[in-house]
Amino acid sequence: YLYKPWQMKKTATTCNYCGDGCQLYLETKDSEVIRVTSPLSWKNKWGDREETAKGHGGLCVRGRFGFEYLDSKARLTQPLVREGNQLVPKPWLEAMHQVVDRFTEVKQKHGADAIAGLITARCTNEELYLFQKLMRTVFGSNHLDSSARYGHMNFVHASRHALGFGRTPNDWEDLTKAKAILLIGSNITETNPLTAVRIKEAIRVYKAQVVALDSTITNLGKLASHPFLIKPGTEGWVIDGLVKATIDQDLVDEQTVNKHPKAYEALKAALAGLSLEQIATYTGVTADTYRDIAAILAEAPRSIFLCAEGIVRRPDGYQNVLKLIDLAWITGKLGQLGCGVNTVTEEPNEQGAVDMGVAPEFLPGQGRYSDAAARDRFSKAWETAIPATATGANLMEILKRCKSGQIKALYVIGENPLATLPASVEVRSALERLELLVVQDPFLTDTGRQAHFVLPACTYAEKEGTFTNLEGRVLRVRQAMDPVGESLPDWHIMTALANALGAQWEYESANDIQAEIMKLLPGYYNLGQPRKVTPAPDQYLTNGYAAEVKTRYRAAAPVTDSKRPFALAMGQLLAHSGKMSTEAPGLINIAPNTGKLRMNAGDMERLGLQEGTKVRVTSERGSLQLGVQPDIAQAPNTCFFPEHFNEPPVKDLMAVHVDAVTGVPAFKQTWVSIEKA
Ligand code: SF4
Repeated sequence: YLYKPWQMKKTATTCNYCGDGCQLYLETKDSEVIRVTSPLSWKNKWGDREETAKGHGGLCVRGRFGFEYLDSKARLTQPLVREGNQLVPKPWLEAMHQVVDRFTEVKQKHGADAIAGLITARCTNEELYLFQKLMRTVFGSNHLDSSARYGHMNFVHASRHALGFGRTPNDWEDLTKAKAILLIGSNITETNPLTAVRIKEAIRVYKAQVVALDSTITNLGKLASHPFLIKPGTEGWVIDGLVKATIDQDLVDEQTVNKHPKAYEALKAALAGLSLEQIATYTGVTADTYRDIAAILAEAPRSIFLCAEGIVRRPDGYQNVLKLIDLAWITGKLGQLGCGVNTVTEEPNEQGAVDMGVAPEFLPGQGRYSDAAARDRFSKAWETAIPATATGANLMEILKRCKSGQIKALYVIGENPLATLPASVEVRSALERLELLVVQDPFLTDTGRQAHFVLPACTYAEKEGTFTNLEGRVLRVRQAMDPVGESLPDWHIMTALANALGAQWEYESANDIQAEIMKLLPGYYNLGQPRKVTPAPDQYLTNGYAAEVKTRYRAAAPVTDSKRPFALAMGQLLAHSGKMSTEAPGLINIAPNTGKLRMNAGDMERLGLQEGTKVRVTSERGSLQLGVQPDIAQAPNTCFFPEHFNEPPVKDLMAVHVDAVTGVPAFKQTWVSIEKA
């Protein structure tokens, strides 16, 4: 380094890449980020473990080397205003005047229901809170959503429905101390690297039994005590097999199920039409294996069931979580300390986005938006009536309504739906119909290029606030550097916009917003303190469970495609997370976009393919040509392309399935044929 350590400013903050929420030091000289180090000496509340908990002070490659985007030359430094086909730099005042005029015009012409907003779960809690307040009290619209909709919302809805709370019941102390951990279809070494470190610690130090079932060969699968390859896309059927094997072998916790005999009988009846042998043919895991795994999970004194991408980002994600809750319930692993069904969020503040009410169905604190009394409470606190109806649109509905012309103005903060969603959603044509598209982002994104206005926003390193990590722990974000160019923190831009539209907000800092949140959600900032035993799901099992569980376990076989025998999956690479990491040269050096499809070496040999050979990949959505490369993680008949890269546009081969209950769009896997081009 060019500088001595004492010449650099060291700011303790929270990593912005994934839901693990690792603590790190951003070391800066003037406004240049020089390096990232980890606070090894921080102690937690018990005084014997680092506050980072997960990695004992460690950081993954993203946290450690992914900082160069913060002061990148590609950062937006000025507002941009569309003039014909061009986005032209303008002073803030001029751009904001125009934005305000255009929003006012849309509202006057088409009403509040013609305005919608999307925000990234990379924003702070304070900004997320302000966003929903802006949408509801200033624009008067309940059409709003965040990137938590891409998967986490399946967990939140299922957990709230069954257990009454939409958050994880355990912290990472529990994870390391669990005696059995179940992980299905989720490569968390890539999505949540330091959570994976905790699981490794559970395996190596505490001798936990880890059952990892996946259609690819994952890093944790190699270390797990019980790794099994499953057929692609059969994660839901695997859970069916585990519940069935638990019941068949009478491994249930008698005391627990005897409290709700009717519910247990209903669950048994729901599974009566399924046999383990049948599930074995669907999933590729033998009936005996199901029996063995079921025994491990049931007999361990503490078992944790993880809901990562392989559970929640599937077409049946909501039902998958409910099925895991069934499994945890009958084995007596609910309502017990150190047991339960846990979420693993991919973005740094997905839990915060839900807790702050950034969803049409939730108010801050996860109160139901449809609850008139709860709405009334917030209307009074904000001294403004909020939209009375509970018919707000979520992410996919917003895009649909943009396309149909019902929504005329869209405010997008840090999100990039054009690059995130497959072509089947037709985001481009939806955005083209808008009368007003305002994008607020640190970078000029694909969505920004289509916007009428682009407002330069700060990154997490330039602002204060908090994130809520996957444990539900609220963690501080501290300003380490001055804003780049004329960029401003999102809360600052939203406050200016609200006031220009007639509000009288007096926030001068993130602390002011925090003070308001504290008043409305007392105790929120203390979440993550030592956990209490979470209540058993008595109400859920008594009210309506029997009727509901009837349809949960299906005898239908998983859908496959004989003409398209390869399962194409899109997912994360360890060096990348979302789109920010692709702006970090350090991470691009480690993991560049090769533009190649990753395949099983045996499959390549069988098809006569060498590294770099061009193939034609065809799904039901279309076809494209790209090179191939061998990948030891790929099992036969599977292939993979990293979701961070849109070149070539592999994502456009994926079909999108939207969950009927939660509105979560699933597009991680599809069936393709592969032939030499
Ligand atoms: Fe920790 Fe996730 Fe950041 Fe890696 S990306 S340092 S695991 S928070």
